[in-house]
Amino acid sequence: MSSAFDLIVIGAGPGGYIAAIRAAQLGLNVACIDAWSNAQGGAAPGGTCTNVGCIPSKALLQSSEHFEQAGHAFAAHGIGVSGLSIDVPTMQKRKALVVKQNNEGILYLFKKNKVTFFHGLGALKGGNASVGWQVAVAGKDGTLELVAPQIIVATGSVPRSLTGLDFDEKQVLSNDGALSIDAVPKMLGVIGAGVIGLEMGSVWRRLGAQVTLLEAMPEFLAAADAQVAKEALKQFTKQGLTIHLGAKVTATKATPSGVTLEWINAKGEAQTLKVDKLIVSVGRKPNTKGLGAETVGLQLDARGFIQVDADCRTNLPGIWAVGDVVRGPMLAHKAEEEGAAVAERIAGQKPHVDFNTVPWVIYTAPEIAWVGQTEQQLKAAGRDYKAGSFPFLANGRARALGDTTGFVKMLADARTDEILGVHIIGPMASELIAEAAVAMEFKASSEDIARICHAHPTLSESLKEAALGVAGRTLNF
Ligand code: FAD
Ligand code: NAD
Repeated sequence: MSSAFDLIVIGAGPGGYIAAIRAAQLGLNVACIDAWSNAQGGAAPGGTCTNVGCIPSKALLQSSEHFEQAGHAFAAHGIGVSGLSIDVPTMQKRKALVVKQNNEGILYLFKKNKVTFFHGLGALKGGNASVGWQVAVAGKDGTLELVAPQIIVATGSVPRSLTGLDFDEKQVLSNDGALSIDAVPKMLGVIGAGVIGLEMGSVWRRLGAQVTLLEAMPEFLAAADAQVAKEALKQFTKQGLTIHLGAKVTATKATPSGVTLEWINAKGEAQTLKVDKLIVSVGRKPNTKGLGAETVGLQLDARGFIQVDADCRTNLPGIWAVGDVVRGPMLAHKAEEEGAAVAERIAGQKPHVDFNTVPWVIYTAPEIAWVGQTEQQLKAAGRDYKAGSFPFLANGRARALGDTTGFVKMLADARTDEILGVHIIGPMASELIAEAAVAMEFKASSEDIARICHAHPTLSESLKEAALGVAGRTLNF
């Protein structure tokens, strides 16, 4: 006998668990299935984000930033520190606790919202929207069958490995192993200087590792505004990250004591790199393993993503897909927005997700954040724009914090003054970008931001000043 629901959500990462909660709020009888297990074999909802992504990486970034500050920044405040040390197992224990609190938080939210949670692997077995889609859940205690007319697939993504270099999570690490290193490696190699490479590379560099990143592209952080990327490369290099662009890894050999990489630099010269541990962060791929997509004829695209329209409808009536398993940026907040929107569509509402106002954040120091278009994108599109920028060096709060690196840059349409993009590198960029996202969502002009009273002294005044800069009238620079 199968248990009947209005909606079954497969996957309880940010896309799935938010979809389940939103649908339950709207009165649907919802089941959510997730396969992730903690070290004890218990349920660990929250997906990549909670278990081996956003949350644990930010916990380690915070610990390592404290260590860096104590070692390098406290002295200027008159604070003396002697015998500074890092206890990696304690740092990891704290990270594990933060993850556990988030897992438990989601289980609590399921209970509060009356979402029925199943711990196990969900597989589409057959059916259709009118008789219901059948989903088998293979858990610890055997297999159950559920049925519902509506399904949301939110099965996320998994790390991409390089051919001939499998993850062993001891020497050759994916994000999972990179977040669980138990002692600071002397030499750490990273293939791929993208978001994970820079965040994880920063953590272990701050704690004392010598970190070398090999990036295939000739350009650094190609998705970011070029001016921001240039400043970021300068700062990261100054901090001690060795970043080689245009690097081609030709051979790798992993042994229990380390990894040797043969690679060719941008000038075409053969190089060798020997490291104790290697992080491979060359992107992620959609995860549909065990889902039963082929059983029911769920269409995937050439790269393995579930094919969806702008509203996250798949080729099968009643089956939707959201988050990393579909096109678009692999970001937790993008997955959440899609999850909530699909739940509302199923309940008969007409929500809208604006992909142009999805913010991007890289949690390095300095932080990098942006929303909207980069200057190079506007140029390529032939769009007439004006730019205003403001350095944190001229911001009173940044001086008081002792963190004056970077700037805010605002791009606005030359004719209408509508804000087209905001790019920040500097302190608390991750928090400051929210104002820009709100402004863009409301189709604000740069003058709107310039005329809004911002508290003094705050970093947010830099956003106002950059907006004033669009009209060529910054007041403090
Ligand atoms: P996931 O979070 O991957 O969740 C999918 C869930 O589905 C998993 O729990 C999986 O076990 C489960 N599942 C899969 N198949 C089945 C099945 N058949 N049956 C049952 N369950 C199944 N994004 C940000 O926005 N900010 C960040 O700071 C950030 N940091 C990151 C750091 C790292 C190191 C990594 C790797 C990623 C980071 N991301 C960040 C990206 C973010 O984690 C993803 O975009 C987000 O988790 C995607 O959510 P999702 O719900 O689509 O999938
Ligand atoms: P990424 O796409 O950010 O970076 C991968 C990098 O590897 C790119 O610069 C690419 O050019 C390079 N690369 C690819 N193949 C290579 C090769 N053979 N040799 C050398 N370099 C190579 O991917 P990621 O860092 O693995 O992160 C995966 C996803 O997780 C990203 O899409 C990102 O959205 C998400 N994420 C987000 C955050 C955040 O929002 N702060 C943090 C971590 C991860």
